[in-house]
Parts: sequence; C-alpha cells; structure tokens
Amino acid sequence: MQILVLNCGSSSAKFAVIETSDGHELISGLAQRIGSPQASLGWKWDGKKQELALPGADHKTSLEAIVKVLRDLGLAATIRGIGHRVVHGGEHFTASAVVDAKVIAGIRDCIPLGPLHNPANLTGIELGAALFPELAQVAVFDTAFHQTMPSRAYLYAVPWAWYQDHHARRYGFHGTSHRYVSRQAAELLGRPYEACATIVAHLGNGCSATAVKDGKSLDTTMGLTPLEGLVMGTRSGDVDPALIGYIAPRLGITPDKVIDALNKQSGLHGISGVSNDMRTLLEAAAGGNDRAKLAVEVFVYRLAKAIAGLAVPLGRIDALVFTGGIGENSAQVRAMVLEQLAVLGFRTDEARNKDHGRSAKGRITADGATTALVVATNEELMIALDTATLVAGKQAAAR
Ligand code: AMP
Repeated sequence: MQILVLNCGSSSAKFAVIETSDGHELISGLAQRIGSPQASLGWKWDGKKQELALPGADHKTSLEAIVKVLRDLGLAATIRGIGHRVVHGGEHFTASAVVDAKVIAGIRDCIPLGPLHNPANLTGIELGAALFPELAQVAVFDTAFHQTMPSRAYLYAVPWAWYQDHHARRYGFHGTSHRYVSRQAAELLGRPYEACATIVAHLGNGCSATAVKDGKSLDTTMGLTPLEGLVMGTRSGDVDPALIGYIAPRLGITPDKVIDALNKQSGLHGISGVSNDMRTLLEAAAGGNDRAKLAVEVFVYRLAKAIAGLAVPLGRIDALVFTGGIGENSAQVRAMVLEQLAVLGFRTDEARNKDHGRSAKGRITADGATTALVVATNEELMIALDTATLVAGKQAAAR
C-alpha cells in the first residue's frame, strides 16, 4: 500500500511516499523556510534531486506545491492514506489513531504540552484532509510508545497537584524511532520482539535513550519536553532546575530566555563554542580544540551514565542499540560509550565497529561480550506501516 507521510513543522514540511509492502521510498522531499521570502521545496525522485523556489509560501501553498509534484509524477492517484507525525499526544494517545473529530480535539488539548509542534502538526492534518478528502489520515505520536512507562518512571517528585491538575509528568519523545529500532534489533538478535530487552540510544541532533522490554517502553531519558535527559546538539539535557533562578538575574534575562538558551545555545554547541554538529566537533577535537574535545567527553559520559541507569528497569540487556545520525555513523563515539560501559560487560570489536556492524548482523561488540548493535532508524517507514495497518482495518470494518 502506498502511503504519504507528512511531518509538518512550524516552518517546514517533510514528506515521503512509501510502498509499505517492501519499505521502498518512491519520493521524499522537504519544504523549508515556510513563511519567509526564501521558502523552497526540494524533492528526490528516481535518484534525481529537484528544487523549486516558493517565495513567501505559507503551509497551504507549500502543501499544494507538494501535491502538484505528486500529481505531475503520477504518484497522487495511488496513495491510500496519509500518515502524520504528531509530536505530543499527552496521556490521550497510547497508539497511532485514525483522525476524526475526537482525535483532532485530543491533539488540540495537547497544545499546551507541545506548543511549538502540535499547532503545525494540526495544520498538516487539516490541509491533508482538504487536499485528499477521500483518504484516511492517521496521526502517529512521538509520545505514544512511552505511555507504557510505569508511574514510578514517569512521575516527577513534585507537588501532586502539578501532575493531577496540570499533567506535569515525564512523557518521552522519539517514540516512533525507538519502536522501529527496537523491533529491528529483536529481528537481528533472532528473538521474538515480545521477549526482548534492549536499550535504544537515538543519537541525532536530538538525543534520547529508552529501555524497551517485551515490546514496551519502560523508561526513557526525555521528559515533559525534549529538553530533559541526554546532552544534545544545542539542548543541555538535565540541569539542576535551580540553575534557572541562579543565572537569570545574573544575565539580566527572564526565566523564559534561560530556558530558550538551554534549548538552543547549550549542549555540544554550548560547551564547545564551535558547533552543534558531532562530525564537526570530532574533527575540531582531532585538530587540538580542547573545548570541542570536552564537549564530546561530556556527551559520551552523560550518555553512558544514562544507559547504565536504563539497565535497572530491564533487569538484563539483550542489546544496546545505536541509531540516529551519530549512533549510525560515528564509530568513534560508539567506541567511547562502550568503553565507559565496560562495567556492564561491553567490549567493542574494532573491525565490526568500523564498518558499523554491517558484516556482523549489526553487531559491533566482541563475541562473548554484552551485545551492542547499530540499526538505522526509519521513522517515516514506521509511520507508513502504522497508517497502512489502520487504513486496512478501517477498510475491513467498512466491508
Ligand atoms: P540526525 O539528527 O539523526 O540527522 O543526526 C545529526 C547528527 O549526526 C549531527 O550531529 C551529525 O554531525 C552527526 N553525524 C552524521 N554523520 C556523522 C559521522 N560520520 N560522524 C559523526 N557524526 C555524524
């Protein structure tokens, strides 16, 4: 079944058409800088890249341009459903859902929890329905996979009313990636997904790690927002919340501005002063830049500590799984993390790690050591698969 996957952000719209029977991506593209004079649409089809300027385009014009490209290439008529990435599903959504008025109201209810993303995700859903009124639309939530976390993992130790009246709790994100990657890992390990214990480290610009047991997320490093947890490209990850009250008056800025800096000027970028990009930092560190080296060391140390913590809810580790741009591509970062985790029995196999586990069914650790794997994430495919399943169910129910 061919599915259009849409990820509508505040100033961008990412799309792909995926054939779910074999996971083949027929076309993928990105409308970016939406709302600005530099707005543009780029896409890749049949190995060729194309770009179109869309000066001043808003979301509507951008999505219309995407649909025109699909129509011109003869791809629109074969699409059977639209899968939307939605960032925050709060406690409303424990799984992907066919969009109807109730689902839209639920996504709207979660806007206070995801103020930057949910409004844009809703815009994508509304435009998708207007452009393809005959197609079912499915919402796939970043948070849904983590709704299996037990209360001891998701509660903050704060006044009870903060949770009860204001839904302040840990939600976790990257759920679509963690679900896809943990499934793939089980397959590589030759174990049933429902009897597998893995820790997935999704290391991209945003980073989070999740303990997955028997197909369920038991704990994860991100919290109420994607700011909690690991050190990331520009996000600080965990800090003492009292830091905000300490630094705001000293810098003469509001707490909101401090939180903005924790999101946008911290992490690898903040420590290094060089870049938020791991590849750039590794090169700078190799060239003798001490702060770049320090940024990588803090990143690795904090990640290793978090991974060790996630062993607690699992009880055993069938595999630690690296994914995301850093996890899939940086043998150096993986080796550094595994070295710090020697206490858990990890031992890198240098040759396997160097070719990203390709020659050993994803394995990058030595025989006899605790297993670590490299698995490429594919959130778009997971969204397409969920959408196809729900569309097929809807069709069967209608018959
Ligand atoms: P993502 O958000 O998943 O696209 O990941 C982006 C991150 O992956 C950036 O920090 C990149 O520098 C990093 N990355 C991609 N390729 C490599 C590589 N070969 N070595 C180190 N980091 C990489």
